[in-house]
Amino acid sequence: MRLGIIALLLVTLLLAACSSGAGQRAPASNPALSALPDVGGGPRVVASTSLLADLVRNVAGTRAQVDSLAPAGADVEDYQTRPEDAQRVANAQVLVLNGLGLDHWAESLFARAGRGDAVRVTLSDGLPVIKDPREPASAGNPHLWLDVRLALRYTEKIRDALIQADPAGADGYRANQAAYAQQLDELDGWIRQQVATLPPERRKLVTFHDAFPYFARAYGFELIGVVTPDPGHDPSAGELAQLVSRVRAAGVPAVFAEAQYSPKLVQALGQEAGVKVVTDLYNDSLGPAPADTYVGLMRYDVQKIVEALK
Ligand SMILES: [Zn+2]
Repeated sequence: MRLGIIALLLVTLLLAACSSGAGQRAPASNPALSALPDVGGGPRVVASTSLLADLVRNVAGTRAQVDSLAPAGADVEDYQTRPEDAQRVANAQVLVLNGLGLDHWAESLFARAGRGDAVRVTLSDGLPVIKDPREPASAGNPHLWLDVRLALRYTEKIRDALIQADPAGADGYRANQAAYAQQLDELDGWIRQQVATLPPERRKLVTFHDAFPYFARAYGFELIGVVTPDPGHDPSAGELAQLVSRVRAAGVPAVFAEAQYSPKLVQALGQEAGVKVVTDLYNDSLGPAPADTYVGLMRYDVQKIVEALK
């Protein structure tokens, strides 16, 4: 009986806390959601992918509540948004996307459901983009974060967006970003050391989709080919046979599938070309530990790549 009263009291107090918090904010586009409590006094942030959300968390610290739309393990490029995604977007004060087509679904969701006063940031904007020479009209390859120095540029944009949405938290965001930048700097140096242990003629990459041009440019790999330039569209038998010849001709020691996609085609390629197959690189989405943070994912991938190519 007494417990029941305490529970009731707690619920009443919680409701009071929620409504007083909501009163200080501009109305959200969905009034029902503006009653959610703020976390740490900072803004609610929605990022399109789990990996970008991890970068945001490292800059936001405990001050903001950070969510991703596509969860860890998702096929980001073909993600189907759910009804609750629109609600989370409508409730967010900062919206973060990668751009260059990777998260086109988030772009349209932000336009449709985002609050008028939300700060929006497209992390690839203004950065040095790599274009596929076969597709000069394309906006550019979206996987910039696989070059750690470009991921560092992402965190600067995230810091600036958080400060714009929440000037009172500026000092914390600056300090967090500076500390994380140091971690990223160390990560970049560690990757270069690891790659230096590979003979240059073995620094060759063949992956399932075209996620590694920035990684290759930054760390000195040659891209020999990809199984499909467009996830969701499998190559023809003829295209796969051409790739098998390229793998053989280039003396590629191993080929790489990615955890968010079926490894079958890469396994077929490896078997046909007579080379090792690694099935679980992570790139567009975070995975299970140790790939459950950006830094962990990069370390994991580099270890796998260096081991397989040695
Ligand atoms: Zn991708």
